[in-house]
This record gives sequence, C-alpha cells and structure tokens, in this order.
Amino acid sequence: MKPLVAFISQSIFGDRQAWEELLPEALSGIAEIKPFADMTDEERHAATLAIVANPDPAEVAALPNLVWMQSLWAGVERLTAELPEDGPLIVRLTDPQMAETMSEAVLAWTLYLHRDMPRYMAQQRLKIWHEHEYLAAADRTVGILGLGNLGSAAAQRLHANGFNVLGWSRSEKTLEGISCHHGPEGLLTVLTRSDIVVLLMPLTDETRGMIGAAELQACKQGACLINFARGPILDTRALIAALDHGPLAHAVLDVFETEPLPASDPLWQHEKVTVLPHVSAPTTRSTASRIVAGNIERYFRTGEIPPSVDRKRGY
Ligand code: NAP
Repeated sequence: MKPLVAFISQSIFGDRQAWEELLPEALSGIAEIKPFADMTDEERHAATLAIVANPDPAEVAALPNLVWMQSLWAGVERLTAELPEDGPLIVRLTDPQMAETMSEAVLAWTLYLHRDMPRYMAQQRLKIWHEHEYLAAADRTVGILGLGNLGSAAAQRLHANGFNVLGWSRSEKTLEGISCHHGPEGLLTVLTRSDIVVLLMPLTDETRGMIGAAELQACKQGACLINFARGPILDTRALIAALDHGPLAHAVLDVFETEPLPASDPLWQHEKVTVLPHVSAPTTRSTASRIVAGNIERYFRTGEIPPSVDRKRGY
C-alpha cells in the first residue's frame, strides 16, 4: 500500500484545485495525496507528512503524528509564527525555477528604474519632450539585501547585465563578481553606496521593520528601492517620508503589510510608487511539484528529511 500524504491549503480555490490535480500525478507510484477534508480520523492520526500551502494551523494540529511538512511557498513566516516551535519540521520550497523567475523580475524592475521609465511616463502624461542624461549600467550600483537562493541568483543576473552589484547577508559570503557585505555595518555600506536597493531577505523577528527611517535616510540622494521580500520588513511611513522629503526617488513595491493592498492605501496614488500585486516570483507548479515529489520519494525510501527551517533564526 502506498503511504499517505496530507494536503492542507487555504489558498484560493483555483490554485488549490490546480495543486490537487498536479500533485497526485507527480507523486504517482510514490504516495497517495489526500486533501485534509477527505481524510478519516484514522488517516489523520497515521499521517507523518503533509504538503502545505497557506494551511489552517488548526488542520496542522489535527495531524498529531506529523514529522515534517513540505511548503509549496518559499516564504514561511506565517508557518513559523503560527505553529509551535516543537511542532513538525518545516521544509520550504527551494526551486531553481523560482530563483530564475525572481532574478528575471529583479532585472526587469531594475531596468525600469535604470532607464528612468517612471520619469518618462510622468513626462508623457504632461506632453513634455525632455531627455535626461544616460548613465551606463556599469555606472549604476545595485544593492541586494539577502543573498539566499533568490538574492544570489538576482545578484548574478544583474552582474551579467553589466551592473555594479553589492550584496548583503547575515553571515559572511563570497559570490563571484559581487561585492559581499554582512552584519549591521555591512548594511550601512550597501545602503549608502547603492543607486537601487532590492529587498530579498525573509521576514523574521530580526528583519521585521529593519528598513526604517534611519536606513532610508542613509540612502544616496535619488536612490530607488524595490521590495520583493515581505511588506513588514519595510516601514511604510518612513518610506513615504523618504520619498516625499528624503533621498528616495522611486519605490517598486510587490509586497505589503496588508495584501491585497486596501483601496484606501495612499501608496496606490503616490506618484513615486509603482504597486505590483505580489507577482515577482510566483511558484511554478510544474517544477515545484517535481521537486516536492523528489523530496517525498527520498523520505519514504531513505527516511531523509530535506533541510528544514531553523526555528530560532526564523528562516
Ligand atoms: P533564503 O535562501 O533563506 O535566503 C535568505 C537570505 O537573507 C540569506 O542570504 C540570509 O543570510 C539573509 N538574511 C536573513 N536574515 C537576515 C538578517 N537578519 N540580516 C541580514 N541578512 C539576512 O531565502 P530565499 O529563498 O532567497 O527567499 C527570500 C525571501 O523572498 C522569502 O523569505 C520570501 O519572503 C521572499 N519571496 C518573495 C516572493 C514574491 O513573489 N514577492 C516570492 C518568493 C519569495 P545568510 O545567507 O547569512 O543566511
């Protein structure tokens, strides 16, 4: 008999349905996948493994013998906040395709800022024909905060496209062609030298509110900011102040404190803000389901659990 894997998701119906079709196919011959709602009490008691996408914590708690869970998302801050520290191990999604998707988004929106698109769009609305001086990519410094799976791929893609790239992480790192910094002093170095700052660190106790008034005021005059990480890492009030009266020229925001961004939020109307609806790096279901199937096959064959989230660090 094939082992049973629970599937727990509160994702929107279309997304959940797509996974419910794809996962059994990817896991055929390895395990049987069952949505939580369809499991009997006996099955819930026996389950040692679950695949989760934005799960209801009460449903996770209703699987008392869960050893680990495979998230279909890269960011796991909700899971670490809502589930007890001694609960099942959390394995987040690490997919090279997601690094590819995110690095493409970082390159796209860096080019948008680098080639002055917000400024030319504003000029068009006012029918202003005025050219601004061209700056080569090599003369533009981009700072990437967070050099993990996504940040390091983004840094390397920017470097390959001719930008001068700085990176920042918690621990010391070496990446070819990238000037890497770490720790509190490293953050200041990157902020004061970058023309474009990209946030790509996880939301943890340490990073919540990390980019506030002091950090934004330390940025170069005319610098731009891209937040592709998580909304609460960036202090929105301090951001608006830095755009209105401080050094920042523009912000591209893909993630927010509250999502969807409420219609009443002033960020929608701010002329120096580009709002995106959390689209910089969606999970690619086809590659993710193959990775998840590989992890699960290995677990049932060898007992090996993929590297899991360090609950003390929060990522
Ligand atoms: P990751 O592999 O865990 O890398 C995290 C990076 O951030 C590491 O370099 C880490 O430093 C650094 N970091 C963590 N805490 C830090 C701190 N306190 N100070 C300085 N650096 C710190 O994560 P990832 O896969 O690259 O993903 C990053 C985040 O992107 C996710 O957590 C998620 O929130 C976000 N994301 C957004 C989207 C979207 O569509 N907008 C999609 C996917 C993911 P070390 O290298 O020293 O550990």
